[in-house]
Amino acid sequence: MKALIYDGRLEYTSRYPAPEMGEGEALIKVRYAGICATDIEITRGYMGFKGVPGHEFSGVIEDASLKGLIGERVTGEINLSCGSCYYCDRGMRTHCANRSVLGIFKRDGAFAEYLTLPVENLHALPDSISDEEGVFVEPLAAAFEILDQIDIGRDKNVCVLGDGRLGILVAEVLSLTGCVLIAAGHSREKLSILEARGIKTAPGTEGLKKEYDIVVDCTGRGEGLREALKLVRPRGTIVLKTTVADRTGADLNAVVIDEITLIGSRCGPFKPAIRALAEKAVDVEPLVSRVFPVEEGVEAFEFAKRKGVIKVLLKVS
Ligand SMILES: [Zn+2]
Ligand SMILES: [Zn+2]
Repeated sequence: MKALIYDGRLEYTSRYPAPEMGEGEALIKVRYAGICATDIEITRGYMGFKGVPGHEFSGVIEDASLKGLIGERVTGEINLSCGSCYYCDRGMRTHCANRSVLGIFKRDGAFAEYLTLPVENLHALPDSISDEEGVFVEPLAAAFEILDQIDIGRDKNVCVLGDGRLGILVAEVLSLTGCVLIAAGHSREKLSILEARGIKTAPGTEGLKKEYDIVVDCTGRGEGLREALKLVRPRGTIVLKTTVADRTGADLNAVVIDEITLIGSRCGPFKPAIRALAEKAVDVEPLVSRVFPVEEGVEAFEFAKRKGVIKVLLKVS
């Protein structure tokens, strides 16, 4: 099958073996897949991953032991859990001790014609969500995770750092809470997408005071935590969304002195993400910078690294 593979170097091939469907799994023909910051970090050595990257996708079930599922348009949760370890027993399946993660850890991903996932990981896409929009369910779910972790209401002063792919989605999701929100970034063009949605923005953090109840680091840079510490008020909360291969240290004394709560935040719930897309509560269409055929995947990665580019999609089939 067609696939983009990373083995110390990113390469396209038309002769990668198709995945075998395991018990309880479905074989999915991928339609679109999104290149995310994590994928770019993988090509810089993040997680030591080798194989087919890609974890944001939409596709069609081509085979499953439950024949009624065939033909269903889906996207899927990316963590594969064992269901029986200490963490799984306590309802933390995304933290399963024996997990693999689609296109990130011990499991081939979505930059290929076919992928397999357990049926329980799959979510049907309603007709009102296009194949292209379906790619955004996974990163949007990661944004919704924040709302599962902390209370954000109208009384909260919130700053989102970073105007990249994830920063924009996080700002859009947090704006649904009615909180007092500002999104800080460096790209005029990207910030204007948020302004069009009625979200206040700031060009960089220089003019901002150290008075935010909650700061969300979506910078995708190692220095993000240090910047967040300059903006969060004493006894405030910092939500860390950034994963980078090269993590620059921040002075954690500031966390102690200001009694800051640090919250790590990763994958989130798919249901509210699908609902928000279906109801057009968030608008992801302006985020698609360009669509490349999977055959041009290497070029697509180079394009995705360029300044000003938001989301690059691969049309797989
Ligand atoms: Zn991602
Ligand atoms: Zn487990």
